[in-house]
Amino acid sequence: MATIGFIGIGNMGAGMARNLVRAGHEVAVFDLDTEKARGIEGATVAASGEDAVKGADIVLSMLPAGPIVASVYRKTIFPNAESGALFIDCSTIDVATARILAEEAQGHGFAMLDAPVSGGVAGADAGTLAFMVGGSGDGFARAEPILDAMGAKVVHCGDAGAGQGIKICNNMMLAIQMISVAEGFALAEKLGLDPQKLFDVSSAASGQCWSLTTYSPMPGVGPTTSADNDYKPGFAAGLMHKDLGLAMEAAQASGADVAFGRAAFDAYDAMVEAGEAGVDFSGIIRGKRGVA
Ligand code: NAD
Repeated sequence: MATIGFIGIGNMGAGMARNLVRAGHEVAVFDLDTEKARGIEGATVAASGEDAVKGADIVLSMLPAGPIVASVYRKTIFPNAESGALFIDCSTIDVATARILAEEAQGHGFAMLDAPVSGGVAGADAGTLAFMVGGSGDGFARAEPILDAMGAKVVHCGDAGAGQGIKICNNMMLAIQMISVAEGFALAEKLGLDPQKLFDVSSAASGQCWSLTTYSPMPGVGPTTSADNDYKPGFAAGLMHKDLGLAMEAAQASGADVAFGRAAFDAYDAMVEAGEAGVDFSGIIRGKRGVA
């Protein structure tokens, strides 16, 4: 069993840390919000990021965005980690920062992986996340048993940054699909159709996708989701906006045609501009339906 320092105990990190404790690992947790860190039964609440990192074989991070990840690694993790420790950043950040941090870690004598996730808060709580991992084969081999305790699927995608690259492609697909499902329900409603009938048909037909069957944006239809809890996240629109921004940067740099991804970015941009960054990303349906 490993000794793990876990930094960032938010919506996702909490379930992930709980699953590491359940698997028998020794886990020290740190979050700027101490209440969140205290919520992980069986883990040690570290007084600081430094304390979480000291003595750990594995350092895991689940933080909001690239600049925060870079600052935590440079100020807290690189200077305080034990020699030989492996770093696994599970946050969703840009490919360039992931690559630079992996290089800097190597310069300090550490292996570092980018290992962003898919599966949402439900997947984090249930231990069924999908991990997309970038970095060395040796690092991956060490990380795999740890990631297995939190996920149902762990894929080595390539060198440093490859996990983040796959993640932004996945999330661009997710955003487009969520909007397609929202527009389907909004159109059905305008046509006076029963949304439950649309769910019954499309969940078993060619309109089927995760945004419909697992994360339906329509209240009262499908499994209980954020839509049934006044669009409390879940996965905040602000985070989806961040991921789409990363996808748009990558598309521009590589010359990829992502016209629908761009439309999805614009839609989430409008949601953020309207002060709804903290609303779940499935709440995009409210504008489509014309409800508050
Ligand atoms: P969150 O905002 O709920 O959690 C982030 C946590 O980091 C917060 O508790 C915050 O207090 C803490 N934090 C911020 N700066 C810190 C610092 N310097 N030191 C210690 N703690 C600090 O976000 P989340 O929804 O858990 O998402 C985390 C990451 O996972 C993001 O990169 C997001 O894009 C990605 N992600 C989220 C989901 C989802 O469904 N929520 C799904 C896949 C990926």
